[in-house]
Amino acid sequence: MLEVSAALTQGQITPTELCQKRLSLIKKTKFLNAYITVSEEEAFKQAEESERRSKNEQSLGDFDGIPTAVKDNFSTSGIETACASNMLKGYIPPSNATVVQKLLDQGALLMGKTNLDEFAMGSRSTDGVYSKQYREKRKQNPHSKNEDLDWLMTGGSLGGTAVAMSAFTCYVALGSATGGSTRNPAAHCRLVGFKPSYGLVSHHGLIPLVNLMDVPGILTRCVDDAAVVLSVLAGHDTNDCTTVQDPINPFIWFGRCEQTITVFLVQIEGAKVIEVSIPHTSYSIVCYHVLCMSEVALNIARLDGLQYGHRCDIDVSTQSMYASTRQEVFNDVVRGRILSGNFFLLKENWENYFIKAQKVQRLIANDFANAFNSGVDVLLTPTILSEAVPYLEFIKGDNRTQTVNMAGLPAVSIPAARPNQGLPVGLQLTGHAFCDQQLLTVAKWFEKQVQFPVIQLQELMDDFSSMITHSTKLASNTLKKPKKF
Ligand code: GLN
Repeated sequence: MLEVSAALTQGQITPTELCQKRLSLIKKTKFLNAYITVSEEEAFKQAEESERRSKNEQSLGDFDGIPTAVKDNFSTSGIETACASNMLKGYIPPSNATVVQKLLDQGALLMGKTNLDEFAMGSRSTDGVYSKQYREKRKQNPHSKNEDLDWLMTGGSLGGTAVAMSAFTCYVALGSATGGSTRNPAAHCRLVGFKPSYGLVSHHGLIPLVNLMDVPGILTRCVDDAAVVLSVLAGHDTNDCTTVQDPINPFIWFGRCEQTITVFLVQIEGAKVIEVSIPHTSYSIVCYHVLCMSEVALNIARLDGLQYGHRCDIDVSTQSMYASTRQEVFNDVVRGRILSGNFFLLKENWENYFIKAQKVQRLIANDFANAFNSGVDVLLTPTILSEAVPYLEFIKGDNRTQTVNMAGLPAVSIPAARPNQGLPVGLQLTGHAFCDQQLLTVAKWFEKQVQFPVIQLQELMDDFSSMITHSTKLASNTLKKPKKF
């Protein structure tokens, strides 16, 4: 992103040319199913404004003219926001989510809204209404040996966003990070996926999944870009009382100040590696789901067809209208979570499930605190259990990520490669709460060591569609299995 920004500043390309190229690439890669809505008109208008500023030497900075994409669960003023659900089909929010507004205020171009699992519930990105075609094909022919089996899961729930980035249709993207939705797809798609500390970035305007864990996630191609995005997004928001008033360490990124980064890196060179135990991790996934489903039941309660959302034609009674509406629009995952959540919240179950899960959540947070108190600055784990796999081999992908969300800590997945394997995997680094800057500094050090193949600036500008094999047979957020590199 920073390289593209420099190219814009130096006049190697104009914002409107760049926007035009990205829009044509979005059209050519439509079969990847990355975007739910392409905001062509808005993006072009924003590009023209950016061009005007640039001509008048009034550039707003690094983001001015940069194509960005936003997961379809962030409210965008005047642009449909449906969370890949028929329940919200046609819903046009009256205002932008705080993070979206912050990027637009910096001159970013909004290329569109990207595909996800319905209401961000899932870890494959095949569970949204816009991935139906793909799921149906699988159901009809689960063991077929045809080309479909070569296609791999991006992970989720922000698979569409990861694909939009991987296909170079944008240079920065925002997703939600509740249990791993940013880091998992980042790990599969050789991107940097960053989940900031809970409370550092506003989630106002992000349609909630689990309020106590939802954080806007940042998807970029390198750590520097993630840090620069965070420096714009971080800060208190009067619309979100969970954002900290006075962060322990206000976020300032020194990444591009070579002297400062060198000092940090020298400190890291002297680092010691020790093993630590986070003993309650094994309870984490169960605990996450009890908390998640309970909050889902509450959050989705408002989408009843009366106050908000789609309403079915049945009008014999309010009860049957509710039931039929929900049957009609929600997928099995969403309905299952509503049902389980309501069960956990029943008066007779509340203590046994919800309260117990909260206690386990506290134990997990304490595990991290103990590890950090023993002198550890950053924890290193794999982000995912395997590289991207085909649909049938996919196992839930967030086993390594959601513990961090339960403790509210910052974590980042950076690309790494396994020897002799063709696909990227991710290394996950977790930091102390509100030490996002330290975390990203270590991530940058790793990035330098790993030296994952970098795409050159010219390639960033060019039309990448020739590198992506076209297939009309596929319609999902999937990656084509690459040749070994
Ligand atoms: N896979 C997790 C879930 O379905 C994470 C989702 C997310 O982070 N949005 O709840």
